[in-house]
Amino acid sequence: MGDQVQATTTMEKIVSLAKRRGFIFQSSEIYGGLNSCWDYGPLGVELKNNVKRAWWKAVVQMRDDMVGLDSSILMHPRVWEASGHVAGFSDPLVDCKQCRQRFRADHLEGDRCPECGGELTEARQFNLMFKTFMGPVEESAAVVYLRPETAQGIFVNFQNVLTSTRMKIPFGIAQIGKSFRNEITPGNFTFRTREFEQMEIEYFVRPGTDEAVHEQWIKDRFQWYLDYGITPERLRLRPHDQDELAHYARACSDIEYYFPMGWSELEGIANRTDFDLKQHEKYSGCRMDYFDPATNEHYVPYVIEPSAGADRATLAFLLDAYHEEEVNGETRVVLKLHYALAPYKVAVLPLSRKEPLVNLANELWRSLRKNWMVDYDDSKAIGRRYRRQDEIGTPFCVTVDFQSLEDNMVTVRDRDTMNQDRVPIAELEQYLKEKLGF
Ligand SMILES: [Zn+2]
Repeated sequence: MGDQVQATTTMEKIVSLAKRRGFIFQSSEIYGGLNSCWDYGPLGVELKNNVKRAWWKAVVQMRDDMVGLDSSILMHPRVWEASGHVAGFSDPLVDCKQCRQRFRADHLEGDRCPECGGELTEARQFNLMFKTFMGPVEESAAVVYLRPETAQGIFVNFQNVLTSTRMKIPFGIAQIGKSFRNEITPGNFTFRTREFEQMEIEYFVRPGTDEAVHEQWIKDRFQWYLDYGITPERLRLRPHDQDELAHYARACSDIEYYFPMGWSELEGIANRTDFDLKQHEKYSGCRMDYFDPATNEHYVPYVIEPSAGADRATLAFLLDAYHEEEVNGETRVVLKLHYALAPYKVAVLPLSRKEPLVNLANELWRSLRKNWMVDYDDSKAIGRRYRRQDEIGTPFCVTVDFQSLEDNMVTVRDRDTMNQDRVPIAELEQYLKEKLGF
């Protein structure tokens, strides 16, 4: 079934465009780079921020049963004992005795090194948490971890949020933040990295209602990707088999996107039951139960967890937006990003660098950017400037020409249709607001 689906482009093309236009750079590039670490450039940070804003809008701003949180990356080491990460968050690792490369034993076929054919060591468990030291003395008592997931920051604040807000079950807490996993084999550009940003929700429900709420979250989260422009054919839902469920999960479904390397996970939506809250109750000695005024009962809530990757979502939106079109015998590369995700919404392009024209263009630029991120470009031929704006996904280009000085009108070009409208300057802001929808 998946074989009929086509990826929009190759990863190589996206990596190249990302670097050329300033979306994503290799980290520490001048020192030869650091494996699997990436930096978001001027356009990348806009795109990723817009992805995060779109997520926050859908799961916090537009809902009456959700609140936000921003917990710290470093947490008490006992948190990770309670969560099971100290004992169990590991992958089986093998080393090649010849070329010294490391592999995940469960990803290998056969018992020889896939790179050089050399002999492999016995598999040993390799904990994926990054360890560091807190305080000035490097002693074992001060060992802390970089969090491997943002979820635990939410669980340990469950009672704080309950007592400081008027939230009643069912309700949820959303958080966006960095997490760290010392993956043995990262790769595929920003898809699997050791430092990554999560967008996680823990949604607390009365036991017994968990299955229905789980189904609803799966629907809502799937729809979100479609709402922001992902092609339906490249999105699918994959329920986990019983034997691939995490130890804490009762059920889990992945939302997968058809990346150039094939179907891969964008987001997992798990039913974590009461596992985490009960573990924290046990390890901290603090009560984690909830008194339900509606039913007069005490219980430890079940938790539904939609857990998405901000970097993966950003990459998927970037890939899916990529189009190559034939225009007048030339190839036009255009990023058809959803308007809300596009780094710049508008670009102001004066046709010449001559004084009265530039003054007018500058004035427009300053005025429009009160509403949106607006680019300004007065270099080279107008055709090349359109190409550049197409390639970075700018929905509208406003061209200021000599006629504008006479008739107080500008030309607005639409990214997707390439249609051009002549618009009075006095109505420009309203025109763009209507077109953009915000
Ligand atoms: Zn080898």
